[in-house]
Amino acid sequence: MPASRSKNYYATLGVGRDAKPDSIRKAYRHLARKLHPDVNPGDTAAEDRFKEIQEAYGVLNDSKKRKFYDRFGFYSDQAFAEGTGARRPGGRPGGFGFDGFDFTDFGSQAGPMPGPDLGSLFGNLFGGTRRPKPGAAAQSEGEDLEYTLDIGFEDAIRGTSARLNIDRQKTCSPCAGSGLAHGTPPRQCDDCSGTGQVHQAAGNMRFSVPCRSCGGDGRVRSPCPACAGEGRVRSMDSIEARIPPGTGENSRLRLPGKGNAGLRGGLPGDLYLVAKIGEHPFFERSGFDIKIQVPVTPAEAILGAKIEVPTIDGKAFLRIPPATNSGKTFRVRGRGVTDPRNGQRGDQFVRISIVVPEIPDETTKDLMREYAERNPENPREAILRSL
Ligand SMILES: [Zn+2]
Ligand SMILES: [Zn+2]
Repeated sequence: MPASRSKNYYATLGVGRDAKPDSIRKAYRHLARKLHPDVNPGDTAAEDRFKEIQEAYGVLNDSKKRKFYDRFGFYSDQAFAEGTGARRPGGRPGGFGFDGFDFTDFGSQAGPMPGPDLGSLFGNLFGGTRRPKPGAAAQSEGEDLEYTLDIGFEDAIRGTSARLNIDRQKTCSPCAGSGLAHGTPPRQCDDCSGTGQVHQAAGNMRFSVPCRSCGGDGRVRSPCPACAGEGRVRSMDSIEARIPPGTGENSRLRLPGKGNAGLRGGLPGDLYLVAKIGEHPFFERSGFDIKIQVPVTPAEAILGAKIEVPTIDGKAFLRIPPATNSGKTFRVRGRGVTDPRNGQRGDQFVRISIVVPEIPDETTKDLMREYAERNPENPREAILRSL
């Protein structure tokens, strides 16, 4: 990206200078959807605007680049790389394109500058290899975390709450996440003698910029000893999670803000719990439906019967007609799992399986022989006929 003119990235995205990272993201997404070239084919004005919001977002969404922009009123990759010490080893900065550079934000007369002077200027401002001092270090967002959560079969259907112990970065309590020592009074910043401004000269031009060490405040504080200035500490955290009724296998439950705390008060990440649902001895889940296999006797299968079957909320009666074969499946409406999105319940599917008992007594066997004589049939006839 070439060095660019001073642009108001905040105005481009329609957010205030103090906008939090998530409102910047929201504003960007909203505009990107509206101005995307796919949505506005052939509209060059929309395309230009789209490029502008992408550029603005690229800077404001990166806390370090945003800090650079806030301080200097412009952003370019090259100046940023120089300023933050990402300098080629032993090399002088080269190829600076500062033409058209706008200095008005620095409170001095505008004028084009020769590149190399500015290169060293930014090197000085950012201190090259100097470590940033506490208080001037940037915030950043906490990471999202993902954990697997084992849920019992019935708990997933009815909903439950689970208490989890999670290893995460929590906001440091002694400093409330600021990373700054609590209770020690701020002292005057050495680098700017408490003025909050440092003076820079480039060629025949002098101007002042906000002091990097104290962020323009003129005062600095020691880093918090509990978190070494990070504003967060790693610890086991006990978290209560509500498992909604109807939770399915591999559902991702999001607990906003329960991921890692951000650096130095940055926004926390989210925690995702991925549901792994336990098995049941005879019920099986299929989305919001329940499946079960139910045994019947040969007499029930032949004559038909009203049988009792288990459902997830107790027993229910199911009427099976005469001549019901193994494998035949009946639907019991509304006895499945409640869909949390619309409150509707799935169904239960009952699959019949004929179970043949061992018959010890001769009288029953005689009855079966009589049955066979009275009903001469060959159920294999059709398959044999095809030979
Ligand atoms: Zn200072
Ligand atoms: Zn702390």
